[in-house]
Amino acid sequence: MISKAKGFAYVKADYNYISYYKDGKWDEGHLRPEDTLTISATSTSLHYGQQCFEGLKAYRRKDGKIQLFRVEDNARRFQTSCERMMMPTVSIEKFVDAVKKTVLANAEFVPPYESKHTLYIRPFMIGVGDNLGLRPAPEFIFSIIVSPVATYFDGDAKCVNMGVSDYDRAAPYGTGAVKVGGNYAASMYPQVEARKQGFADCLFLDPKTHTRIEEVGAANFFGITKDGDYITPKSPSILNSITNRSLKYIAQHILGLKVIEEDIYIDQLDHLVEAGACGTAAIITPIGSITYKGHKHVFPASKVMGETTKKLYELLIGIQFGDIKDPNDWITVL
Ligand SMILES: *Cc1c(COP(=O)(O)O)cnc(C)c1O
Repeated sequence: MISKAKGFAYVKADYNYISYYKDGKWDEGHLRPEDTLTISATSTSLHYGQQCFEGLKAYRRKDGKIQLFRVEDNARRFQTSCERMMMPTVSIEKFVDAVKKTVLANAEFVPPYESKHTLYIRPFMIGVGDNLGLRPAPEFIFSIIVSPVATYFDGDAKCVNMGVSDYDRAAPYGTGAVKVGGNYAASMYPQVEARKQGFADCLFLDPKTHTRIEEVGAANFFGITKDGDYITPKSPSILNSITNRSLKYIAQHILGLKVIEEDIYIDQLDHLVEAGACGTAAIITPIGSITYKGHKHVFPASKVMGETTKKLYELLIGIQFGDIKDPNDWITVL
């Protein structure tokens, strides 16, 4: 068995899942082979951004079985996003069941254990149906597409250089905490700008004062302090990353590190010896430097992933691929 992944490009699998919400209720939902949608041109998702999504992965274990990581947490976050977007929620049970069905129907697209590639799972909801005025849609589609993906790096992960955006991805009490397309639309321009300037991506500061680190592109920021503590910022406009939550748990309960959630000022980074971006897609991307207002701050661990970050990374992927015992009921074996 070989991996069908082509980097993070979309590779069409055999089936996707679709369920319709009409007349105040969800239908049963079903699997189908075609990955296109026919919707009204006046759908709220097209004009007013009424949509949200999730991202998680299916992992092939050494024994050949397939497993999911913290799928109920994705289901809960999806409910939060739907509520914020005035969309009907799907029950935890329906969400988890749909993810399981979709993955099992595409089992041959879950890459082999040895490749360390995974099947990326993208549940999403969109407002559909005839509508013109600004109001929640009359109908909705909940769908799940999957694609095999390769991790961004293998083995000794090289650090990347980051810029800092002058723009915001979300407002102070806007939609930063929920996983909605609008935040991403707002982050494309600064991301392209950052890449043009030679950076891997850009950091977003808190939208109110532009002094504190909030997010790294579409990932959470964390650091390891001189004292060996795990530090990550907290704010109402940061997306509650399941990867970050897992790293906090591993740092505290497996590595015995102190976990600190507090502001990290962009012009005061000297207390950090390692820095990284974390999220489902890239897992952990180590950050070697941050350039802010023409000044390049280089972290002590600036070439390859630092020692503590590496330990966190190995433990996390060990749990995700089933090599390390699940410490906290995070795993669902299919
Ligand atoms: C999805 C996402 C993350 C990462 O969340 P995970 O649950 O770890 O995948 C971080 N920041 C933003 C803005 C996101 O959309």
